[in-house]
Amino acid sequence: MEDVQELLIATRNAGKVAEFARILSDLPLRLRGLAELGVEGEAEETGATFDENATLKAEFYAARAGVPTLADDSGLEVEALGGAPGVLSARYAGPNATDGQRVARLLRELEGVGDDERRARFVCVIALVFPRTGESELFRGVCRGHIVREPRGAGGFGYDPVFVPEGHTQTFGELPHEIKNRVSHRARAAAEAARFLRGRFPRDA
Ligand code: IMP
Repeated sequence: MEDVQELLIATRNAGKVAEFARILSDLPLRLRGLAELGVEGEAEETGATFDENATLKAEFYAARAGVPTLADDSGLEVEALGGAPGVLSARYAGPNATDGQRVARLLRELEGVGDDERRARFVCVIALVFPRTGESELFRGVCRGHIVREPRGAGGFGYDPVFVPEGHTQTFGELPHEIKNRVSHRARAAAEAARFLRGRFPRDA
C-alpha cells in the first residue's frame, strides 16, 4: 500500500476539524483526529500569546502521536478593551461559563462605548510541529470587524453573534457558513498553512 504521510489535526472541536479538513483536502496527507490516533490528555494553555499557546498544543500532541501535528489557538481582541479578552477568550467569564455568559460579559464591558470605538478582530494562529525533526512553523490569520450592542443570529459559536466582519452588516451568527469560512481568521491561517504544506508535500513527490 502507498505510504501516505499522516497529519494530526489536534483539536477536539468538531467544527474546527471540519473547517481544516475542507481547506487541506487537496493535500496528499491523511488527516487524523485525536480520537482516531488514540491521543489522550489535554494540553494546558499557559502561554501569554496565541503563538505560545498554539505551539504548546502542537508540541504536546505531536510528542504523543509521533506524526506531524497542526494545532490552533484563537480569540477575540477588542480595541476599546486594550486587546481583551485575547488569549483568555475561552475563559472570559470563568472556567465553566457558557458562550452566552462570555458574550454577556463582553457587552457589559463595552457599555457606554460608542459605535466608532467598538473595533475588534478575531485572531487565529496555527502551529505545525514535525516531531521527528523538531521543526515548528507558525501561521496567522486575522479577521477585522466590530462588536454590536445585542447578540444577533444563532449560527457559529463563541462571540459570533456579536461580531460583524468588515464589509458586512450581519454578524457571524447571521451570515451563511460559506461567508464565514471565506473571511474568517481561521480560514486565513489555514490557507497559509495549506500553502506551506503543499510545498512540503508536493502532489507528485
Ligand atoms: P481556542 O482557540 O479553542 O482556545 O478558543 C478560543 C475562544 O475564542 C473560543 O472559545 C471562542 O470563545 C473564541 N473564538 C475563537 N474563534 C472564534 C470564532 O470563529 N467565532 C467566535 N468565537 C471564536
